Amino acid sequence: MPDQTTQITGRLHSFETLGTLDGPGLRLVVFLQGCPLRCLYCHNPDTWDLKGGRAVTVEEIVAKASRMRPYFGSTGGVTLSGGEPLAQPQFTLALLKSLKKEGIHTVLDTSGTAVFSASERTLGISTAQIQAILTATDLVLLDVKAPLAENFQALTGCSMAGLERFLELANDNHQAVWIRQVIVPGLNDTTTDVEALVQFLQRYPKLQIPKVELLPYHSLGVRKYEQMGLPYLLAGVVPLAEEQLAILQQAVDQRFFLNR
Ligand code: SF4
Repeated sequence: MPDQTTQITGRLHSFETLGTLDGPGLRLVVFLQGCPLRCLYCHNPDTWDLKGGRAVTVEEIVAKASRMRPYFGSTGGVTLSGGEPLAQPQFTLALLKSLKKEGIHTVLDTSGTAVFSASERTLGISTAQIQAILTATDLVLLDVKAPLAENFQALTGCSMAGLERFLELANDNHQAVWIRQVIVPGLNDTTTDVEALVQFLQRYPKLQIPKVELLPYHSLGVRKYEQMGLPYLLAGVVPLAEEQLAILQQAVDQRFFLNR
């Protein structure tokens, strides 16, 4: 009997072949459509619409990944990104499971925001689906937008309840997680902000966290906002100087890794 799972369809924004920034080794990065957040600095507002992009099957992506296997070596593989891969939970789960079946390393690049309070946009992902997705994921790249509730809301337009639920489940699963945070001048660029990030992560002690990476805000996506007729609310914000970012990175590494 043919495997029905491989015929499940999702909405694809684009591929990046041989990506080096979204997980270990050389990777096929699969950018999926749909995101519940509205991060002020989002580079890809064209991924927000769950109905955008084109239809793609699990089979098509697994076949593409299999052809790329010689490039993956012992560390590379496939990264599901977006948009927000958790916005298409059934497709993401089927894809991750099929990749695992082929022995391909899987990374989930996510904001963790998949479960919402009743008053917010509901994506209908269940706890069981998140647990199954985590089990089929070798490494989570988790973008912690902001560690304090009020900053999170201001930056993303959503509450952080979904992220906290995701982290509780990942913690229960002893998940391997690389943490990322984009540093935006005036929003989260002080040592107090970095301290808040460390304290937030310490709430989830069973996570396996080899890396906490601070990334500089940049305004490369601004043209897309113009093309889509959307206001760009961070206009005029100047990216943090490299040396300033290095100081914050050092602070987070010292506070987080020396206390584990
Ligand atoms: S989570 Fe990512 S895709 Fe979604 S709005 Fe934020 S930056 Fe954009």
